[in-house]
Amino acid sequence: MYSHPSINLAEVIAFHGHFCPGLASGIRLCEAALERLGGRAEDEELVAIIETANCAADAIQFILGCTYGKGNLIHLDRGRNVYTFLRRSDRTALRMTCLPQPDDMTAEQKALVARIRAGRASAKDQAAYTALWEGRGYAVLELPLEALFRIEEIADYPAPQHARMEPSVACDNCGALVMASRLSEVGGQRLCAACAPERDVDGLTVTAIGVVRSELSPDSPPRVRSARSRLEIEPVYADALLGLEPGRHIDVLFYFDRSSDVVPLLQRRYGDPANPPSGVFALRSPRRLSPIGVTRVQILEVEPYALVVSGLDAWDGSPVIDVKPAG
Ligand SMILES: [Zn+2]
Ligand SMILES: [Zn+2]
Repeated sequence: MYSHPSINLAEVIAFHGHFCPGLASGIRLCEAALERLGGRAEDEELVAIIETANCAADAIQFILGCTYGKGNLIHLDRGRNVYTFLRRSDRTALRMTCLPQPDDMTAEQKALVARIRAGRASAKDQAAYTALWEGRGYAVLELPLEALFRIEEIADYPAPQHARMEPSVACDNCGALVMASRLSEVGGQRLCAACAPERDVDGLTVTAIGVVRSELSPDSPPRVRSARSRLEIEPVYADALLGLEPGRHIDVLFYFDRSSDVVPLLQRRYGDPANPPSGVFALRSPRRLSPIGVTRVQILEVEPYALVVSGLDAWDGSPVIDVKPAG
């Protein structure tokens, strides 16, 4: 039966909620860290850097005292079974990489695991699975460490910063206390990341088909429309103008390319403090999660590579991303 002077198996299992091979593997990781790096972290003297958050993480928190709350448990979300333990005092680190284990399950056991993972297990299957998993966990407790892990000692490991202690400041919108460094300053207000998230620029793409030429600029008063703007269309897209004629109305979609990356979800119409806060989707504000403007204008002239329009409120230099007939 497994025993270690610094590890109370029953308490670790109670903390995790069940016994499984992942927890057993975590217990063995801790055993190596305790032996090679010294005792558990009462404060932040030991740091655990885990590259996947699985059952082993609970053993590490419970046995080594490396926890989210203290800031000495760092999760790098790479899905790798690699665990690095760092002793801050001399910056010695122990890196442990889980080794593939021999495939020793019977065909029957594999079929059972498949039924469990597919959600097609009976109550009898569940009991058999629990027994199988616990048995495999106990086997992990008995194997030599070298059979479970590749163990490397790394000298002078770059120590992550100590957990940051900083004052909390109330968000001017929701009133929640927030780490001061996580607030964004927006129009004289200090807002948290829930009230003013940063725009997510991943994934979607739009194409600039041209550029706005106008007398309007960031210095122009709000809500002004230009009597005459030119949409200069990239020559490669010239054929796409076929069918547009003077006098017709079109919707011009353009990009607010000078908009801030931080977007308050509540804003005041025209930025006027006299107006009550409105949700950004209820406003035409340029400060939006997808910073796209759409304005209905009338075509004055159609040129080979340009449209001259009246009624556009886009600033000079704004990328044009689409033009379509007014519905
Ligand atoms: Zn588990
Ligand atoms: Zn807030």
